[in-house]
Amino acid sequence: AISARGVCKDFGGFEVLRDIDLDVATGTTTCILGPSGSGKSTFLRCLNWLEEPSAGDILIQGKPIGRTGLGRDAKRMARNELAAARTSIAMVFQHFALWPHLTVLGNVAEAPVHVLGRPRHEVEAEGRAILARVGLAEKADAYPHTLSGGQKQRVAISRALAMKPKVILFDEPTSALDPEMVGEVLAVIRGLAQDGLTMVVVTHEMAFARKVADTIVFMDAGRVREVATPHDFFANPQSERTKRFIARS
Ligand code: ATP
Ligand code: MG
Repeated sequence: AISARGVCKDFGGFEVLRDIDLDVATGTTTCILGPSGSGKSTFLRCLNWLEEPSAGDILIQGKPIGRTGLGRDAKRMARNELAAARTSIAMVFQHFALWPHLTVLGNVAEAPVHVLGRPRHEVEAEGRAILARVGLAEKADAYPHTLSGGQKQRVAISRALAMKPKVILFDEPTSALDPEMVGEVLAVIRGLAQDGLTMVVVTHEMAFARKVADTIVFMDAGRVREVATPHDFFANPQSERTKRFIARS
C-alpha cells in the first residue's frame, strides 16, 4: 500500500498541490484523472520523492519514505533510507527513456544488477520471463531503436517489473504513442492490474480508467476533488467540475 498524507507542493510560492490525502491499497489500481496543469505529474513525482513535498508524508506499507523539513545532516542520513524505499517504487514515463546502447534484455536487467546487486544470470532469466509476459520474448536481444513506440513502452514496463516493486507509477504511459499502439500497452497494464499489482496510473484514457481502475481520483487545481469507484465517478459525479470534465472528454 502507498499513502499520501497532507501532501503540499509549492514552486516559488505557487501552490501546485494542496493538502492531498490518498490511499492506494495493495493489489489495487488507482487512475488519476484531471485537466492539464492540475498537478497530476507533480503528485506522482512526490509519491516517489522525485519531487520533495513542501509538507506532508508519503508512506509505503505505513513507513514514511522521506521526511520534509529536515536539516542538512538529518537529510544526509535520510538519503540512504530514501534510496532503499525508492527501489520499491517503479515509475513508467510518457517517454520511455531506455538506454540506447543496451539491448532490450540489458535494459530490463540493468537496475536489478547494478542497483540491487543481484546476479546477472538470475536477473536475465527473470527478465526473459517478464518480456514473454508483455509479448516481447523474441525482442530480448534487439536494440531500442529497432522497436516501435508501443514495444519500447512495453520494455519500459518490463524494466519496472524487473525491480519487483511494491507499487508502479505510470505518468500518461500512452500519450506519446501513435493511436494504433495505445491498445497494446493498455492491454499489458490491464493484465498487470488483473494479476494484482499495485498501480497508480495518470491517464487521459477514460475508457481504460473506467474498465481497469478500482478507484478513480479526480484532481483539479492542485486538489483532490473526488475519489470514487469508476461506476460512481462516471454515472454519478459529485461536483459540477467533475461533470464538466467528463462531458468534455
Ligand atoms: P498535464 O496533464 O498537462 O501533464 P499535470 O496535471 O501533470 O498536467 P503538472 O505537470 O503536475 O500538471 O503541473 C502542475 C502545475 O505545476 C502547473 O501549473 C505547472 O506549470 C507547475 N509546475 C510543475 N513543475 C514545476 C516546476 N518545476 N517549477 C514551477 N512550476 C511547476
Ligand atoms: Mg502531467
